[in-house]
Amino acid sequence: MMGKIRVSLLGATGLVGQSMIRMLEEHPFIELVKVSASPAKVGQRYCDSVRWVVGGGVPDYVCDMRLVSTEPRDHKDVDVVLSALPNEVAARVEDELVRSGVNVISNASPRRMDAGVPLINPEINWQSLEQVRGRDAWLVKNPNCTTAIISLSLAPLAESLGRLFITTMQSVSGAGYMGVPFLAINGNVIPYIKGEEEKIAAELGKIMGREMDVHVTSTRVPVSYGHMAVIEAETELGLDDVVKALGSFTSFPQLHDLPSAPRRPIILINDIDGPQPMRDLNPMAVSVGRLSLRGGYLRMVVLGDNIVRGAAGITVLTLETMREMKII
Ligand code: NAP
Repeated sequence: MMGKIRVSLLGATGLVGQSMIRMLEEHPFIELVKVSASPAKVGQRYCDSVRWVVGGGVPDYVCDMRLVSTEPRDHKDVDVVLSALPNEVAARVEDELVRSGVNVISNASPRRMDAGVPLINPEINWQSLEQVRGRDAWLVKNPNCTTAIISLSLAPLAESLGRLFITTMQSVSGAGYMGVPFLAINGNVIPYIKGEEEKIAAELGKIMGREMDVHVTSTRVPVSYGHMAVIEAETELGLDDVVKALGSFTSFPQLHDLPSAPRRPIILINDIDGPQPMRDLNPMAVSVGRLSLRGGYLRMVVLGDNIVRGAAGITVLTLETMREMKII
């Protein structure tokens, strides 16, 4: 597509939606033309209907837009719908859109594991987007936020990985704006996130394109932004090879200089006490530290931005990748 790609955004008032609005503010070739939220807000001005929590205030370009519904008739005139809907709403709405001939890129979990639906982390499996080339309308999915971060950190090592043991420390923002009550998480750790461990294990395999033996424990921690994971990975690589592979990794989005691509997708943290969410959080790159190798197991601690790399940013980068591949 030579001109601008016109997009609408579902779930535009939520955490992921707000972050996407920020990312698209001055985008060189993606133009946000419509925003949508829950049915009760249809017709309201965006500025009047949002509790804005992303830094810097509501961007002017979106303030006076009137919220539209999620119905296909409201999205027939855009090139792609970007969905940041809650999982329980997304299944019905996204299926209806695609059935009506509308293209969708979605953050929500339904259909991520469907064979005909690409599950994309652009630096790893951009080639899987070929699946939808030439279709009348398509659905493309982002992985779960934690999977997006973990898979990127493992991408350069993928071929040499055996069993994986992963313990996550996921921030409160991962559950959305209304997600976890303050009294449940303040000064506390919750060692269970419904459905998360199964999603991470299954989605890692689909993105890496092979069966993987993955054991996950997911925890919610009292941190606002940034998901961390301690990964123990069986490997025959030496530590020098690992450091070199991670530090020098680049892929399709970097080679094609896509606007949302981080220059280095993996940032090595050399401080012994890093990475830390307060200090080392990068919007689109993952930070990796505490690398060590013992008994054939590589230990690494990974940190990534759950809202940007884990959701809004990966959606935008996927669309940029599709344009570069001339799928759209
Ligand atoms: P959120 O803050 O709870 O926002 C949800 C959005 O969906 C709001 O705009 C809300 O509008 C809208 N909505 C709710 N019910 C609706 C309905 N029946 N019809 C239409 N719109 C409706 O959630 P979020 O954190 O942004 O997450 C959005 C999606 O991204 C979810 O599927 C989530 O699993 C996924 N995701 C989230 C993260 C993360 O770190 N937060 C990371 C990766 C993926 P109102 O303002 O009108 O309620």
